Amino acid sequence: MTVQRISKVVQHANMPDYDATRGSFDWADAQAMLDGLPDGHLNIAHEAIDRHVAAGHGDQIALRWIAKSGDRTDFTYAELARQTNRFANVLRARGLQKGDTVFGLLGRVPELYIAALGTLKAGCVFCPLFSAFGPEPIQARMQIGQARALITSTRLYKRKVASIRNTVDTLNEVFTIDGSVLDTTDLAPLMDAATDDFDIVQTGREDPALLHFTSGTTGKPKGVVHVHQAVVAHDTTGRIALDLRPGDIYWCTADPGWVTGTSYGIIAPLTNRATMIVDEAEFDVSRWYDILSSESVNVWYTAPTAIRMLMKAGADAIGVRAFPDLRFMASVGEPLNPEAVVWGNDTFGMPFHDNWWQTETGGIMIANYAAMDVKPGSMGKPLPGIEAGIVEVDGDVVTEVTTPMAMGELALRPGWPSMMRGYLHEEARYKKCFKDGWYLSGDLAMRDADGYFWFVGRADDLIKSSGHLIGPFEVESALMEHEAVAEVGVIGLPDDTAGQIVKAYVALKPGHDATEDLRLDLMGHARKRLGPAVAPKEIAFRQNLPKTRSGKIMRRLLKAREMGLPEGDISTLESDEK
Ligand code: ATP
Ligand code: MG
Repeated sequence: MTVQRISKVVQHANMPDYDATRGSFDWADAQAMLDGLPDGHLNIAHEAIDRHVAAGHGDQIALRWIAKSGDRTDFTYAELARQTNRFANVLRARGLQKGDTVFGLLGRVPELYIAALGTLKAGCVFCPLFSAFGPEPIQARMQIGQARALITSTRLYKRKVASIRNTVDTLNEVFTIDGSVLDTTDLAPLMDAATDDFDIVQTGREDPALLHFTSGTTGKPKGVVHVHQAVVAHDTTGRIALDLRPGDIYWCTADPGWVTGTSYGIIAPLTNRATMIVDEAEFDVSRWYDILSSESVNVWYTAPTAIRMLMKAGADAIGVRAFPDLRFMASVGEPLNPEAVVWGNDTFGMPFHDNWWQTETGGIMIANYAAMDVKPGSMGKPLPGIEAGIVEVDGDVVTEVTTPMAMGELALRPGWPSMMRGYLHEEARYKKCFKDGWYLSGDLAMRDADGYFWFVGRADDLIKSSGHLIGPFEVESALMEHEAVAEVGVIGLPDDTAGQIVKAYVALKPGHDATEDLRLDLMGHARKRLGPAVAPKEIAFRQNLPKTRSGKIMRRLLKAREMGLPEGDISTLESDEK
């Protein structure tokens, strides 16, 4: 693998050199930075909102909501405190108890954020769903999570919930935010009648707070349980990995239906007293550039799929807009091709900071964090308080591989606050993640001599061809360098002589046609970059690639189709045009 390096001079007045403090970093100190509730209690919503109001910051804008229409609505910390108190009062008045699960099925509207944080204040567990889910994934998740209540809209209820409601026997109440239909409770009058005051339920550090389903990239999604103590990691990693500072204008583009949209789309920005931008609309190139520039965004957290779409649109799409306030950009969810990091640097004057984590880890684990140089194509280094290793698993024995750039499974030493406390009702699957004192991530990676980690692929996606081990990401990144390419997904297909052969699916940028000449040109480019053993033997063109709602390429689906196998769980499938 080629290792480029963008050297970046970082002068953070309020940012200690975390590498220097790494040895002495202690999660207990991080916890002490939050004020906590009396008697050792801890509640995410208190840390996110009420603490700041008590400290005199009630008038600061906590949430700026941009409706699809473009209209803006602001919520100060004080207003958010009142609204979430009201919601908690409603839950209590309707008989919800500590530990009950409340599901959210809403677009990115203020009620979703109020419900999430109000639920936590009431000591209940919040589980956000993508509003684009169909009835089946909604039903399956509410059954697994034993939903007691659901907050949604009348439109979503009629289209997606009404037909399955009776199959979720725990579901006592459905709140609708825009009036009511048969069998739903109109939330607005209840909110109006509720009082502004609520004594936050005294949750303990280990009390469940959030239920998140994984993206379903590799199979059936798992229900991951996180506890209130996770806030310690959200808060700390928000500072270290995203450079969040009080008063920052911050935009996380993720939907809360995916863990990023909660950990870093609700909690981390609020605990760090930022002003968060929430855009109701779906991705749109000029709208996104507008928001970045007109909202004076300081810190931007997004994902490779979106970055690749911006790259595809070309520099003209930016027009006369400027981004003088932008200070830090980060990316997560999928490997970020070096090409995209370099493009970010050329376009915005700063690189995208790639970081790696999972629904299970609850927070960022490995990152090109603020106080270090970025290596394009690398996920960065483990954050302070996180010990990561490249390991080999042999039966019950896990051995760390220390040779630079040796490939192995990416593993972590458990013990950080936002680590999952279980896969709901799947104890065996949960236990399987832990071995010999390590948490095994299921991803393959390498570590270089400077301690930077390089993503290779999902363990399931590794390709073995004529004695070579090939990570799809390496092949995808090489093809991404070609000017015609917008997106690539690479898989291995069974082959009698080679074991497996590499096949690439390519989506093109506008202005390029899927011709035989271009296919040969791409083959030639890949061979030159990767060598004939690693370069794809087959290239197929597609409009786009099958992706999960969280923007991850579903390589397993490409493979299943190619091989005529069952498609498996595709409840999270979004775009998918041949
Ligand atoms: P499932 O576990 O249901 O198959 P999933 O693993 O995609 O789905 P998530 O928890 O949303 O569900 O995603 C975590 C995974 O996303 C990681 O294990 C990794 O494979 C990938 N990922 C996240 N960030 C990065 C990154 N910066 N570089 C490479 N891969 C990443
Ligand atoms: Mg996973």
